[in-house]
Amino acid sequence: MATEKSEEAKQTSAGGFGAAPVMTVCPRCGASGSSVRTVPDACAAPDSPGSGLSDRLAKAPGVESRFDSFTHFLEGMVLAFVCAGLARHGVQNDKPLFTTGGAALAVLLFVGTLWVVRGEARERATVAAGRPRAEELWAAACFCASCESVFYPTGSPWPGPLTTDQFRKYVWTEAGFTKQLDEKLKQVELPPRTPAGPTAPGGAHGHA
Ligand SMILES: [Zn+2]
Repeated sequence: MATEKSEEAKQTSAGGFGAAPVMTVCPRCGASGSSVRTVPDACAAPDSPGSGLSDRLAKAPGVESRFDSFTHFLEGMVLAFVCAGLARHGVQNDKPLFTTGGAALAVLLFVGTLWVVRGEARERATVAAGRPRAEELWAAACFCASCESVFYPTGSPWPGPLTTDQFRKYVWTEAGFTKQLDEKLKQVELPPRTPAGPTAPGGAHGHA
């Protein structure tokens, strides 16, 4: 139907897929034009954080910053120190309950803090390692505001439309963030990967 001319031709990702499709048409609902934006553009829209779209299209899991981890470390160590003080108080005043309780808590906090901080560091490393791949898959995709589908205009690397959850699962899985998938996303199944066949991008074919 209404085929706007080359206005939207520039609507392609900054991801670097050289030959851009002429016009981006949603493969699920057929919308085009202003409804269809690249995923980076959709996430950059002013209302996107408020509507939760940025989260639903997040390219990578949020991780604790180094600074946050350092803060956690300090907090844990302060608490461990306080418990060690209790144990010391127990020794000095011959209160075995304080001694054993304080010592046990101090050790628990010390070990627990190291465990947490180490986990955060591992997660940062995982996300840093997968980020280029995630970025690549994320930036090349388009988001249709009409039906909330995500798709690749070129039909590659994924041939058909995905929901935002499926898209996030796809990107995160490809980038190696499977451990970071929450329970809901773990349940999400990707549609069968139909061969990227006759629906060549470009929108020149007749509507069936
Ligand atoms: Zn659509």
